[in-house]
This record gives sequence, structure tokens and C-alpha cells, in this order.
Amino acid sequence: MGGGFSGALQAINLLRHDGPRATLIERRPRAGEGLAYGDAAASHLLNVRALGMNAFPDDPEGFVHWLEERGLGFRPDAFVPRLIYGDYLRDLLAREMAAQPGRLTLLRGEAISLENGRGRGGEVAITLGDGRQVRADLAILAVGNLPPHHPRGFGDHLPSDLYAPDPWEEGATSGLKDSDTVLLLGTGLTMVDTALRLAENGFGGRMVALSRRGLLPHRHGAQEAFAPIEERPELAPSRLVRSVRERAAAVGWRNAVDELRRFTQDIWRASDQRARRRFLRHLRPWWDIHRHRLAPIVAERIAGLMDSGRLVLMAASTLDAEASDAALAVRYKPRGEPDERTISVRRAINCTGPQGNLAATTDPLLRQLTAAGAIRPDPLAIGIDVDAQSRTIAADGVANERLYAIGPMTRGASWEIVAVPDIRQQVWALARRMSNAHWVGGEGL
Ligand SMILES: Cc1cc2nc3c(=O)[nH]c(=O)nc-3n(C[C@H](O)[C@H](O)[C@H](O)COP(=O)(O)OP(=O)(O)OC[C@H]3O[C@@H](n4cnc5c(N)ncnc54)[C@H](O)[C@@H]3O)c2cc1C
Repeated sequence: MGGGFSGALQAINLLRHDGPRATLIERRPRAGEGLAYGDAAASHLLNVRALGMNAFPDDPEGFVHWLEERGLGFRPDAFVPRLIYGDYLRDLLAREMAAQPGRLTLLRGEAISLENGRGRGGEVAITLGDGRQVRADLAILAVGNLPPHHPRGFGDHLPSDLYAPDPWEEGATSGLKDSDTVLLLGTGLTMVDTALRLAENGFGGRMVALSRRGLLPHRHGAQEAFAPIEERPELAPSRLVRSVRERAAAVGWRNAVDELRRFTQDIWRASDQRARRRFLRHLRPWWDIHRHRLAPIVAERIAGLMDSGRLVLMAASTLDAEASDAALAVRYKPRGEPDERTISVRRAINCTGPQGNLAATTDPLLRQLTAAGAIRPDPLAIGIDVDAQSRTIAADGVANERLYAIGPMTRGASWEIVAVPDIRQQVWALARRMSNAHWVGGEGL
């Protein structure tokens, strides 16, 4: 269920590995692109170089070759527009379906409930919003991130013209005049996307971006050869931070962060809940801006907006927001200052980024599954609890053989399961297990 990057690639991998027949349920008009690669603007670039964006672990240059075949003129180290990556995914899906007709069914619709066959003959029954039913031996949740939560003081009570709770919704970035000021709630990647989209839509007014620390993601640098670490660093958070600092002094901070990549999931899995919680509370904002970097062109565009005064960053926390005729008065407290202030804006856009808290979601399927005890939040409440094989863990603590979850909502188990390089490994491994191919040696089949 869910035909974004994770669900579509899972389906493609099942086809490639001669796995079971499958149905891909997607509520959007097109499967195979999801939020990241379907809703992008032309100015939105991948934040990973083309060489890192291949869809399969056993075909490292797949995306680069696909670009070459089309003569699109991108080098392997280019940061390609996200819309083009969406074309690549849809093309892979169409090609695999054509090569193996009748083995994958695409169903447009929203899955709203799932009856889990545990102890009832084993079948899974999925109901769609329009009443259709799909029966299967097992199901995989690939529902992507949950929409952002409202920041403090904001909520559904505010008029939609003044407050856009979801930056990806149509209309969030349109209908503005150059005399307007827009408040962007958040200063991370979602804010960067939103500022670029506003500029691309012709908005010439002022943008004020606000977050507790006011931290902007760093930019990618030139790639330099270096000798990465070969063993996992120590687990204790303070020692880990110290060793990364030492490595940063020796090989540069970008390399010191990047070389951790192959150990991040191991470090997370081997850490106890206390250490994970401390990481989320104290280190996450720093980790995010160093780890998830901007393509250089994007960073330059943002710097240009800031240099010209069109984009201003603030370290502050919102307190409340009051709507009047055509303005929103937002009260906030700047970080480290005693006094509160108020800013009047034409619109506030929630750019606080995706969420994973099942307890707070309004998503019908996830609510139903949680209420039925078929799934449960992970201990940190950042996603769906799964085991190392991507099986969901039911409320009674037992792993469910018939209900799996993949993608960013499984971050509680692996942490580093947000970007393409990690998800492609997750769905590949699951497809191989479902196709009984995991015992075959080597990477390729
Ligand atoms: C804006 C953005 C930019 C990114 N850029 C990069 C990048 O440059 N490089 C990189 O490596 N990673 C990037 N990522 C990270 C990564 O690629 C995404 O997190 C990845 O696309 C996740 O895919 P997904 O399928 O799990 O989620 P999504 O893409 O959100 O897809 C989930 C799909 O499920 C559907 N769905 C949900 N619930 C239901 C339901 N009940 N019934 C039917 N359909 C349902 C939704 O409509 C959606 O299409 C980016 C992420 C975002 C959000």
C-alpha cells in the first residue's frame, strides 16, 4: 500500500526477483514517484549525486546509464532535477511490468483499512475508500512520511489562505503579491524547497524562515579522495561525537559524516533507547544539517535570496497566531532573548518537515491498524515498530508474518532509512526474502 518510491521499488524488485504476484495501491494519479519526485518543482534538485541514486544495489550505475541513454547531458556527479528522477522510477516500473505482463496490478485508490489475517486463516483483506476490497497473502505498508504537525500556536482553526499546514498542498505557495511577507515555519530542507518554489512561482516578496535554532542545511562540497574508517566507531554518544570531531579535523567534516554512513544503521541498532533518545533530543538538528546537504546550485540560490534580503532566517519559537482580515499576527520568542515579538504576515507555511508519530496521525489506514493493535509506534514514537526483517510488530509485541512496513516510517528500527541508498537496500532484501532468493550467493540474480 503506497506507490511512492518505496512501494514502487518494492513492486519492481518483486518482479525482478520472480517473486509473488502483487498489487500496488496508490491514491495519487501516478504510481512510482510519491511526494519527493512527483510534487517537485523544476528548481528542486536531488540532494544526492546521480551516481548515488541508482534504484538497485546490484546495478550501481543504473541511473547514470538511464540518463546517458536519454542524452540528458548530466554527469555522474551531477545533482539532477527530482522530476527527472520521477521519470526514471516510472520508466523502471513500466518496463518491468511490460516484461512480465499480468504479474503486477496497479490500483488507484486509498487503502483505508486492513484486516490482518493473524489466526483467521491467514489472509489479509484491504478495503479501499470506494469500498473495493483486495485480498492477499501478505501486505506491505509503504505509506511514506506523515504530514508535518502544527507548530505551537497554529492549527486547523486558522483560515487556509493565511496558514498552509502542508507545504506540498496545491495553493500553499500561490496567490501572493510582492508586497506580502510570508513566514516559513522551519529552516530545513522543506523550507528550502518551499522558498525555491515561491521564487519559481514569481513571488518577489519577503520570506522569513524561523526555527528554534535557525539552522540551515549545509551544502555539498567538491568530492576528494580520502581513506574512510574501516571499523564502526564507539557507541557512547559523547565518544562518538568526539571521534567524528577528530576525523573532521583530519579528513574534513563532510568526509567524517559521510564515512559514518555505512555504520549508521549498525550504530543505531546497537544503541539502547536512552542513547537514541539523547541523540534525537540533542544531536538530531546538527546531524540533519550536516548529513542531508544541499546541492551546490540550490545552496547558491538560497544564499542569493538571503543576500538580497528576500529570505531572512531567525532562531525563534512560535507562541501563537491570530488571524485578522488578510493577515496573520504571529507571536514568537527569539532564541536567547527575554522579550516576545510579533510579526504580521500574509501567510505562514508549515515547513517543519515530515513526521512519524502514529498517535498523532489522522491517516485512516494507520489509525485503524493502530487501534486494532496490528501495528504499534516504535519506542521513540517516530514511526511504525518493525523488526530487522521489516515485519511490523503488533501491540502484543509479536512480529507479524503478514504485514510488513518499509521506507521512512521504519526509522525507529534503523534511523538511516530515509534516502534512496538505504531504502533501495531495504526493499531489495525484502523482495529477495519474499522470492526465496536471499540464499542465492552474490548481489545479482
Ligand atoms: C521533498 C523530498 C525530497 C527528497 N529528496 C531526496 C533526494 O534527493 N535523494 C534521496 O536519496 N532521498 C530524497 N528524499 C528521501 C526519499 O527519497 C523519500 O523519503 C522517499 O521518496 C520515500 O518514499 P516513500 O515511498 O516511502 O514515501 P512517499 O514518496 O511519500 O510515497 C508514499 C506514497 O504512498 C501513498 N499512500 C500513502 N498512504 C496511502 C494509502 N493509505 N493508500 C494508497 N496510497 C497511499 C502516497 O500517496 C504516496 O504516493 C526526499 C524526500 C522528500 C520528502
